Amino acid sequence: MKWKRIIFIALCIGAINAYSQPFSTVIESKGFRYRFQDDEFEYYREVRALLEKSWKRVYKRLGYNSAEKIEVEFFMDLASAIGAPMKIKGFGGNGKIQLNIPGGDDDFAYMVRVSLHELVHVVYNKLPILPAEKWFKEGLAEYISDGPRSELQIAKYIDMARGKDTLDLRYLNISLGSSVHEDKEIAYAVSKQFVGYLVEKFGMAKIRKLMQADMNFPGVCGKSAAALFDEFKEQASL
Ligand SMILES: [Zn+2]
Repeated sequence: MKWKRIIFIALCIGAINAYSQPFSTVIESKGFRYRFQDDEFEYYREVRALLEKSWKRVYKRLGYNSAEKIEVEFFMDLASAIGAPMKIKGFGGNGKIQLNIPGGDDDFAYMVRVSLHELVHVVYNKLPILPAEKWFKEGLAEYISDGPRSELQIAKYIDMARGKDTLDLRYLNISLGSSVHEDKEIAYAVSKQFVGYLVEKFGMAKIRKLMQADMNFPGVCGKSAAALFDEFKEQASL
């Protein structure tokens, strides 16, 4: 395809996007305020039900409750869909969940996972604690949204991460923001497995205590995060 044609298509998509009316329906429920595009209302019904149901799970695990409503915005940013047409993106900062689903993605299970992951970030951002490292925040969001670790998942991530001799917590923080898809995928998987390992070893009450103590690992868990990560890798034969 010639570059002039690519630019022409990009301009057309940009123009369509600029004239769409993204948030025209607002639905209020007990804990959430949802914004939809008119014709997408039915499509997201199940995601809404699931978010409301899982709110209890996230609340129970992180120990947070609030009268304040969480805002959820579903939108289609067609302009960013060039090059990654089926990519679902989520943002969980600023007390809001924003889901960018270009082209009306039909990968429902994935959309649900991203929604729950962002819900954990929203709750985390509202907690009266100091910020933690990226690997912890992403690992926790993955662990809580995706449920307990399974043997199958552990086997998969061991396969993916094997041979990465730079596999340490610093590498995880860098890779979580990487533009290389494979590095990012491994980093999310390893962060989840490590946070899962910590939750299973110490229990969620101690993890909450750790968060309140500004992630003082030696003080709360008796060992540094790096030492625990080595222990985790050894257990997983990494
Ligand atoms: Zn995240």
